[in-house]
Amino acid sequence: MNVLSDRLGRPLRDLRISVTDRCNFRCTYCLPPTQPVRYRPQDRILSFEEIERVARVFVGLGVRKIRLTGGEPLVRHELPELVGRLAALPGLGDLGLTTNGSLLAAQASQLREAGLRRVTVSLDALDDRTFRSLAGTDRPVAAVLAGIDAAMRAGFAPIKLNMVVLRGVNEGEIIPMARFARERGLTLRFIEYMDVGGGNGWCRQDVVEAGEILARVGAELPIQPILPRVAGEVAERFSYEDGAGEFGVIAAVTRPFCVDCSRMRLTADGELYTCLFGVSGVDLRSLLRSGATDDDLASVIASTWRSRDDRYSQRRSELLPATARVAMTVIGG
Ligand code: SAM
Ligand code: SF4
Ligand code: SF4
Repeated sequence: MNVLSDRLGRPLRDLRISVTDRCNFRCTYCLPPTQPVRYRPQDRILSFEEIERVARVFVGLGVRKIRLTGGEPLVRHELPELVGRLAALPGLGDLGLTTNGSLLAAQASQLREAGLRRVTVSLDALDDRTFRSLAGTDRPVAAVLAGIDAAMRAGFAPIKLNMVVLRGVNEGEIIPMARFARERGLTLRFIEYMDVGGGNGWCRQDVVEAGEILARVGAELPIQPILPRVAGEVAERFSYEDGAGEFGVIAAVTRPFCVDCSRMRLTADGELYTCLFGVSGVDLRSLLRSGATDDDLASVIASTWRSRDDRYSQRRSELLPATARVAMTVIGG
């Protein structure tokens, strides 16, 4: 099969599917409590049949990795059913989920049995007070830790942890999180705070740069770089010299990786985005609901990818701040 390439020669390999724009958290860097939220009307949210159909077309176009996200994907009713449908798609190599972990304890084993291969849990602090204020929730951090334990018991391995680091907010959690992850065999990824959406009040000074994070971890625990396994890996990986596993940094602000970006995104209401920082999407939902054939869908997806030239993070400093960008809870990170 011919690889589908965009205008900058990047192949289409990954698809992130947002299964809901709803969330039970209000993380300050994603969906701040001050920001009004307007959820998509329920009748516009794609059904499992529709998602499965679109996913099948994507696999036919060369996609090998699918990740479910949101909003919080575990608030979507009966999610294991969707996992089962996607896991059964011939040709799909990898199926993952990114979650805030708060509802994972009750669902981890069902998700595993349904065929989910990987889980990434977002966790920004172990200190309960810091966790609650960053996540905008009354739930204790213990609920997320119970979710991680349940995922480990269900057999997910390696489990990844995502930590967004914000200046003056959770910097003090860098080393405790590194130690916590090492001790449990979890792969922690420190993420540079990004200017996603239009409402998180991002400013460059709030970003704790990957270089600084590496210096802080390296000062406590000797580390060395690991060569990338495949092109397009978003995390730069490091191992601990004492052999206690690895961690990564996702330096989307200071070391952008647009040159290798092979990812399309589908929102819960069926819009296609070719970049996390997109302003508008391509409406697949209307096509799906107006009798389009799989070939019609494939041709719209293919032409959307072929005309893509996004490289927002590489051009961030030249661009004016935008407020119209798609919200992170809609596009799913
Ligand atoms: N609710 C799920 C979760 O939090 O894992 C899935 C959706 S969330 C939008 C996906 C990822 O995006 C999370 O790991 C989150 O930390 C990350 N994220 C959200 N806003 C971000 C920002 N402003 N900068 C960097 N990462 C961000
Ligand atoms: Fe936080 Fe994820 Fe919800 Fe955004 S979608 S508010 S990152 S839990
Ligand atoms: Fe991909 Fe857009 Fe992020 Fe660049 S800014 S890595 S093109 S999603």
